Amino acid sequence: MFDDQRSKKIILIAHCILNQNVKIDRCARYPGAIQELADLLVDSGVGLLQMPCPELKCLGLDRQIGKGLKTTIESEDTRVAQRMTEASSIARCHGLANDLINQIREYHKNGFEIMGVIGINGSPICGVETTWTGDQEKAAQGVFIRILDEECRRRGIVLRFRGIKGYEIPQAIAAAKDLLGNGARRCGEGKGIANGGSASDPG
Ligand code: SF4
Repeated sequence: MFDDQRSKKIILIAHCILNQNVKIDRCARYPGAIQELADLLVDSGVGLLQMPCPELKCLGLDRQIGKGLKTTIESEDTRVAQRMTEASSIARCHGLANDLINQIREYHKNGFEIMGVIGINGSPICGVETTWTGDQEKAAQGVFIRILDEECRRRGIVLRFRGIKGYEIPQAIAAAKDLLGNGARRCGEGKGIANGGSASDPG
């Protein structure tokens, strides 16, 4: 079964890696996908399982920002981080994580390999090595990644998680290659590299 062209390798990626339109206001760094990383992932031949954006699911595209409020990216990140700790948001994140786990189980059941999960460091929701809390970036998992990791482990599923930032392309490419391993059989070395930007990669 499934003896065709598919690689039988899957990688889970944060929604905004392929769709920057979902980012909070002022935080998109690309018109669509994070180009260099998306190129690498597509060229690798692994299947891209785009995870849902928990902020969009819980708070909508405008994150329910108050009209006329003067905000900074940092203050918005702090506000969104707090909203995502509300019971309704946590419950929604559990639901999203469980849906992903059901998909992972299907792939495992049929002999597919889950290469890992790529999140967004500095995000209060999808951070892997760092998150945003108490008005600063700290070393911890974001709300959704923590729930996904815990729910996976509770079911005996251990996944490798790596975080990237959209403005640190060389590091993002290295993290993706680390997860892809031999799965990155046609990786995009030598492609154009965008760099620069501010110190956080929120929402
Ligand atoms: S990092 Fe933020 S914008 Fe990207 S998928 Fe996660 S919650 Fe959505």
